[in-house]
Amino acid sequence: MNEKPEKLIDKKGLRLDGRKPDELRPVKLQVDVITNADGSAYIEQGKNKILAGVYGPREVHPKHLALQDRTVLKCRYHMAPFSVQERKSPAPSRREVELSKVIRESLEPAIFMEYYPRTMIDVYVEVLQADGGTRCASITAAALALADSGVPMRDLVVACAAGKVDDTIVLDLMDTEDKVGSADVPVALMPNLNAVTLLQMDGILSLEEFESAVNLAIEGCKQIYTMQKEALKTKYVSVKEENKEENKEEAEE
Ligand code: ADP
Repeated sequence: MNEKPEKLIDKKGLRLDGRKPDELRPVKLQVDVITNADGSAYIEQGKNKILAGVYGPREVHPKHLALQDRTVLKCRYHMAPFSVQERKSPAPSRREVELSKVIRESLEPAIFMEYYPRTMIDVYVEVLQADGGTRCASITAAALALADSGVPMRDLVVACAAGKVDDTIVLDLMDTEDKVGSADVPVALMPNLNAVTLLQMDGILSLEEFESAVNLAIEGCKQIYTMQKEALKTKYVSVKEENKEENKEEAEE
């Protein structure tokens, strides 16, 4: 962002990108995008473009990190040097170390960790383009990649933020709103279990504002959850169609 806009919401009540306060950015989700990985997913949410790859359960390296009663989940959140306007150093920043931990802790409750003792599951998140709310989009993509890998899960995890800009509670803040606005509340949810796995707040909100922000974020999560399930189904429909084609060809031969 080069200039700080004076107003984030215009007279008609619309935001800088024309969205209504309770509207998500356009979301696109796809699974099975990295064939070398055991599971993978890609998300576009507004201008965010993020890839997630899952490897494992596999042997633990270094060995002393292995746990006797459950798998070890390792997450690495990384922003590519070209993901923001000014070149970002490729070395892991303090923020990236923190977000890696936040993403891991949001995903862990969804995985049956005890099914795979003495193993490790690696989750890599690579932000190709960032425009605010990347931790949430990363959680959504990483959970989808885990599901794609076939790791048994209690539910998918989906995340979305709500916050306050110009005294209005808004859904899914983009970068300018995140930076200029007064608060940001990222929420991760296992919608089927109605369980929150991440709740953070950056900024200041009254109790009522906080409640409406959390409720709005949960509504956003539920909308993205439907798209996550669609993305998984689309993969299996295309596999089924490929098999049908193959069977047809074999029958013709
Ligand atoms: P989140 O992406 O989850 O909202 P932050 O609130 O820490 O996490 O970051 C907000 C946004 O700031 C990011 O999505 C990104 O667009 C931008 N940003 C983060 N790090 C950098 C950086 N090193 N240089 C430029 N912009 C950055």
